[in-house]
Amino acid sequence: MYYTDETVVFLNGEFVKAKEANVGLYNQTMHYGNGVFEGIRSYDTPDGTRIFKAKEHYDRLHYSAQMMHIDLKYSSEELENITYQLLEKNGMKDAYIRPLVYLGENMSLTPTNDVYVVIMAWEWGKYLGDNMLKVMLSSYQRPNPKACHVQAKVVGHYTNSILATTEAKQKGFNEALLTDINGFVAEGPGANFFYEKDGKLFTAPLGNILSGITRATVFEIARELDVEVEERFFKPEEIYTADAAFFCGTAAEVIGIAQFNEYKFPLNWEDSNSYMVQRKYKRRVAFNEYKNVYL
Ligand code: PMP
Repeated sequence: MYYTDETVVFLNGEFVKAKEANVGLYNQTMHYGNGVFEGIRSYDTPDGTRIFKAKEHYDRLHYSAQMMHIDLKYSSEELENITYQLLEKNGMKDAYIRPLVYLGENMSLTPTNDVYVVIMAWEWGKYLGDNMLKVMLSSYQRPNPKACHVQAKVVGHYTNSILATTEAKQKGFNEALLTDINGFVAEGPGANFFYEKDGKLFTAPLGNILSGITRATVFEIARELDVEVEERFFKPEEIYTADAAFFCGTAAEVIGIAQFNEYKFPLNWEDSNSYMVQRKYKRRVAFNEYKNVYL
């Protein structure tokens, strides 16, 4: 599903066939989850293939690496160039791109200078699908920001996400919504959360969540649409008074939520400001983001 016999990946300075690349059994990332990664998308635009906000993603990869004491030798610009080459070699335009920085052999609880950079790409539909979602309040909370760097995209953090998504699916929902350690709404397992009330958008402030690049894009778009956004701590119960809600993330893009627990959002999705944000996001990524003429 992710690669064929012909798929090429970038691995430590070389483009190699995915099926021929291998990973050591003793690497630290596999045992302890100390590795960092990104999830990026490229789009087939009228200007050719464009990676959406490549710099922001690679800068965040650097931040994540730094937080985990991992020495990432490539600059954001180099990584962006490599990614364009990778897409070209694979003949891909609309792609999901997965850079992963992983560590070599080390069974101690200290990082190593044996740092590997792999970049993979595959064609991937929207992560949460195209249909409005049924979301449940998770029994899991997001990790304690005093236990790890929640704004870093660290491999090991995603065990929390897997638990939450699995629980939601087992209970017949499409996805989970997690609270922070204080019981305030935080985010989804792989996406940020917004709700809409009387035309205004509300979302959790930074501190207990990943600083989503799509979240930042939603802020930009809302400003352009004259839609107010407020970052504020709120309890899950407040969502029962909302008119509409959505998740946003690179893989999921902007996807509407039909239902939270048993509560059905009353506003027709197409009549919400959230829907306007979704439409504008679609256009922004499908056309080059700097071509404001299209927006
Ligand atoms: N929160 C979490 C936990 C995530 O994994 C992601 C996906 N990277 C997001 C939010 C959304 O981030 P972005 O918009 O940068 O993809």
